This record gives sequence, structure tokens and C-alpha cells, in this order.
Amino acid sequence: MAKKIVIVGSGVAGVNAATKLVDNGYDGSLITIIDMGKDPYNRKPEEVMTGFLGAGGWSDGKLTYHTAIGGQLSKYTGEEKAMELMNQVITNFKRFHPKPEEVQCSNPIAEPDFIKPYFGLRLFPVWHVGTDYLSEIAKNWYDYLVSKGVRFLWEEKVTEIDFKTNGLSTSILNTNDTRIISYDELIFGVGKSGIDFAQQIQDSYKLETEPKSVQIGVRFEAPQEHFQKLIDISYDFKLYRKFDTGVSLRSFCTNNNAAYVAVEETYGDVTYNGHAKKDPKYLNGMTNFGIIMEIKDIDNPFEWSRDVVNKLQSNGTGLYYSPSRKPSSTSEGEKVSSIQIDSLDIIKHGMGEYWNYIEDFIEDMKKVFPTLGDDWGVYVPEVKYLSPEPLVNHTDLALVDYPNVHFVGDALSARGISVSGAQGILAVEKFITEDEWDNIHGDMIYWN
Ligand SMILES: Cc1cc2nc3c(=O)[nH]c(=O)nc-3n(C[C@H](O)[C@H](O)[C@H](O)COP(=O)(O)OP(=O)(O)OC[C@H]3O[C@@H](n4cnc5c(N)ncnc54)[C@H](O)[C@@H]3O)c2cc1C
Repeated sequence: MAKKIVIVGSGVAGVNAATKLVDNGYDGSLITIIDMGKDPYNRKPEEVMTGFLGAGGWSDGKLTYHTAIGGQLSKYTGEEKAMELMNQVITNFKRFHPKPEEVQCSNPIAEPDFIKPYFGLRLFPVWHVGTDYLSEIAKNWYDYLVSKGVRFLWEEKVTEIDFKTNGLSTSILNTNDTRIISYDELIFGVGKSGIDFAQQIQDSYKLETEPKSVQIGVRFEAPQEHFQKLIDISYDFKLYRKFDTGVSLRSFCTNNNAAYVAVEETYGDVTYNGHAKKDPKYLNGMTNFGIIMEIKDIDNPFEWSRDVVNKLQSNGTGLYYSPSRKPSSTSEGEKVSSIQIDSLDIIKHGMGEYWNYIEDFIEDMKKVFPTLGDDWGVYVPEVKYLSPEPLVNHTDLALVDYPNVHFVGDALSARGISVSGAQGILAVEKFITEDEWDNIHGDMIYWN
């Protein structure tokens, strides 16, 4: 018998999972997707993290196509399968795009000499969709899933899951109502906005986990002209350097042309990210990217990161430092929420000796991009909370102790759209096979 599949989180992972199922003839009415955000017609631009397509749906839409980027997928599947799964995700984004021919691909093939010897450059293809097209894609994609019978529960927050009875409790936001929903198979894709819930589940079920590294830094912003030479070679350039102290740094998630700094809120603290629009009316000639440190061998990396982030707050928001500039505006025309600081003391206090790595990175960028000088600013902090990764079966990402509960996307330490979507597809592939087998088997019984 086909199974009742409940997907917690209508993010990139959950939506790709549902699409894989219905594309292959799975009965959409057996699929329920629960999300605490809104459908794509009602989701507001400032609702960056929640709603249809999740954080990925309101992001910059840079679809990276390499197994070294965005978390561990090839660890589960091997290289070839990982690339094939990511390709399915990219194809889905193009398929629901109102103008697929406008999706540009940047594919650098060699490191340019001018960045050497200060930086290396990661070489991989990236398709760029742009935030404004993403909302159109989201509407087309949503309509398709609804037309296939998939049931969506919006503005409903899953508050508890009982893996033993296969039931979950939800709270219907804006009312005091709650309800219990049962499932045969659960896809758990709550993303970054649900990281505290994922942690709560890991703790209460004492799930076996693999520790992760710390990923913390700043969102760097400057006029694009200073970086144009590199942007022409690689749109989402990833400069990197590695030290034998266990620390490595990379530029991360570069946004250009109509580039805006985005404010994220996690655990009540403000952190930063970025996105870029495609519509020419948003052009602002700016570039922003994360400068992220990966720090290995820190005990309790998750708590350590939270503590550092908390020290880098002031008056309920994050910090902005610049030798010459003021904070920019969001695409809605409001100042990016931050407190401007004149001295680096608070940052040095929060990040300790690790701040020196970021300062050196910026100093060396000034050498490689000679016009940059003091014409830049940093929003502090940017963080990738990688909660400990639960141990899962590699074939379907099911928890080792609960084979009908599948962790996907950022909840399984992915860090990007292609990888999260690919994990969603991987988790449900076997239901298609099983369903097909059931159909054949059912026919055989009928003949008897
Ligand atoms: C501003 C920004 C820009 C980014 N830019 C890029 C980019 O250009 N390229 C890239 O590859 N990656 C980018 N990322 C990262 C990427 O968006 C994520 O890695 C990806 O969306 C993760 O997919 P997911 O399905 O795991 O989670 P998400 O897409 O975050 O979706 C999770 C969903 O779960 C829902 N949810 C959470 N908790 C609950 C609950 N308890 N009950 C019900 N629903 C719940 C949320 O409402 C959300 O809709 C960006 C992220 C941000 C925030």
C-alpha cells in the first residue's frame, strides 16, 4: 500500500521531495506538507526564512553544482549520484522559471594569476536565478503541486513529534488551536529557522550525532567595481585560504549588481546573509559576501557559536563596522538593521584571536583589489549553525533508530539549495520504487 507521507517544512528539501514523488505518479493526496510560514502568494519579501521554498525561495538563488560546496552529499551517495541529484534540483528551478533562458551560468575554469599568492579560488559551476524570479518560480511550482493533490498546511508550526507512535502535534498560528497528525513516513526538513526544534528532537531522542565544525564570520560589503575583474571570471567567487591551525577561511555566497544584505534572526539574535535581485530597478552597484571561518576541534561547536553570536549583539541587533561607509539599505528601502561601531573592541572581545584571521583576509583583499582601500564595511556576525548531524542510513537519510523518519536539508547539515533539494529527492526515491512494486504486486494478487 502507498504510504501517507508527511513533510515538515516546505523548504527547498521538502518541495523537491514532494515534486519527485508526484512527478513519478505518487498519489499527491497522500502527501501533506506543514509549514509555519506562508504560501508563495501571501509570503512577504521580509519573510526571508519561512514559507514556500523556505530560505532558498527568498534567497539569491545561486544554484551551485559541485559536491565540495554546500555540505556533504557525496558522503551518502558517491560523486556520480550526488551530481545527478543536484542536476534534478537545478532542472526543477528552470522548469518552473517564467523565463528559463535568463538563468545564467558562471563556470570558471582556471584560477586567475592576480589573486595569487594571497588566495585560492574554488572552481565550480553556479546557476544564478535571482531573488525576484524565485518568487515567480515559487508560485508556478506551488500551483503544480496543488494541482497534483498535495495538501499544504500553512502557518502551522510542528511543536512535537512522537517517533514511537508516528504522530506529530502542531500549533495553528494566529489561533489557539492545535492538532495531531499521523504519518507512515516523515520527512524532516525544517531548515535554519527550525534549527532549535531539530536540536530539541535530537536531545529528547538522544540521537547519535556527528560533531560539526564552527562556521562563523562577517558579511562584507563594498561597491562592486572593486571586485569586477574577479566577478567577470566567477560570479559567486569563493576565495579561500587554509592554515595549519585547523582554521580555514572562504568568501561565501557572493551577491552582485543588485546586492542587498539580509538580516536573519536565530535564537533571538541578529545575524547577516545576502541576496541579489535580477530586476534592473533594484541595481545598486554593490557586492556582498560572507567571509566565513571554519574552525575545527572546538568543544561544543554549537554552543560556542551561539555564545560568540550573542556577544556580537548591541541594542537587540548586530554590528556594522566600516572605516568610511554607513550601513546600506535593504531592497525595501530600509536601513539594514545594525548598530554602527567606531572601534573593533566589541568584535575582538566576541571573536577573540579569530578576528585576526578575518582582518588579515580583508587586508590581503586590499592588495589583490587595489581600488578597495577603505571603501568597505562589515556586518557582524554571519554564522552557519551546523547542529550535530544525526546518523542516518546513506540510502534514504532515515535515522538509524527510526527508519521511517528522514532528515533532509539544513536539518542534516546541508548548506545550500542544490544539496538540500538533492537530499529531499534522495529521501523519497525508494517510495517510488516501493509504490511501483506495490502496484505490480497488487495486480498479481488481483489475477489470483
Ligand atoms: C538570505 C539567504 C540567502 C541564501 N542564499 C543562498 C544561495 O544563493 N544559494 C544557496 O545554495 N543557498 C543559499 N542559502 C541557503 C539555502 O537557502 C538553504 O541551505 C536551503 O534553503 C535549506 O533548505 P531546507 O529545505 O533544508 O530549509 P529551508 O529552505 O530553510 O526551509 C525550511 C522550512 O521549514 C519551515 N519550518 C521550520 N520549522 C518548522 C516547524 N517547527 N514547523 C513547521 N515548519 C517549520 C520553515 O518555515 C521553512 O519554510 C541562503 C539562505 C539565506 C537565509
